[in-house]
Amino acid sequence: RLETRNLVRRYDGRLVVDDVSLSVLPGQVTCLLGPSGCGKSTTLRMIAGVEMQDAGEIWVDGKLVCDTVYRVPPERRHIGLMFQDFALFPHLRVGENVAFGLGGTADEKAARVGELLERVGLSGYDRNFPHELSGGEQQRVALARALAPRPSIMLMDEPFSGLDNRLRDGIRDQTLDILREQDTAVLLVTHEPEEAMRMADTIALMRDGRIVQQGAPYNIYNAPADRAAVSFFSDVN
Ligand code: ATP
Ligand code: MG
Repeated sequence: RLETRNLVRRYDGRLVVDDVSLSVLPGQVTCLLGPSGCGKSTTLRMIAGVEMQDAGEIWVDGKLVCDTVYRVPPERRHIGLMFQDFALFPHLRVGENVAFGLGGTADEKAARVGELLERVGLSGYDRNFPHELSGGEQQRVALARALAPRPSIMLMDEPFSGLDNRLRDGIRDQTLDILREQDTAVLLVTHEPEEAMRMADTIALMRDGRIVQQGAPYNIYNAPADRAAVSFFSDVN
């Protein structure tokens, strides 16, 4: 379970994340939906621990991982990351990339790698190097790598946007199925309302650094809280 309490971030005195409180339950998907520049990626970077907030707290599975004085380093937060430009290790084979950071015996790791490569449609590629794969294939390896350690929280920043349409829906549904099976709490950033409507258990609408509305997709769509929320579904594409 992921919880942020009153997160604040300023750049050069300008508020880019303004009092953001979010909560994501295990096995559920919360979509952070908002236009370009509203502060989505900044919010995710603070949760991941690669950027420090100016105020507020982050809690993972009931434990404080970060406030303004106490800070658990990123690698100890049990948080998985899937970003659009998340690079593979170029000098490691596909299988080694997916196994990176996994515990257990060699047999257990090999079984997990095989299972995940199969699920992203890349069985038989484990001995290849990343440069021998297409961009979309590399991205699917990155998805497999992020899923492999079964993180309790997964942060996803438009991770499917580089994939072509034909592959995209399949990979997206597949990934979400795996995350739900693993009971992972997912925070997914998107600026596409259709994507949020399709994938989210909860949508958090963000605008100018603030969460303007939060609720079930159906409720937000049918009862937008204010004009900002209405225009969301019309001017965002
Ligand atoms: P997009 O949908 O385009 O990815 P976003 O919602 O992810 O947008 P952020 O990347 O969080 O937006 O940026 C929020 C605001 O903070 C933007 O106005 C951006 O220009 C600004 N910003 C982001 N990073 C920095 C930085 N390191 N220094 C100064 N300003 C920054
Ligand atoms: Mg962004």
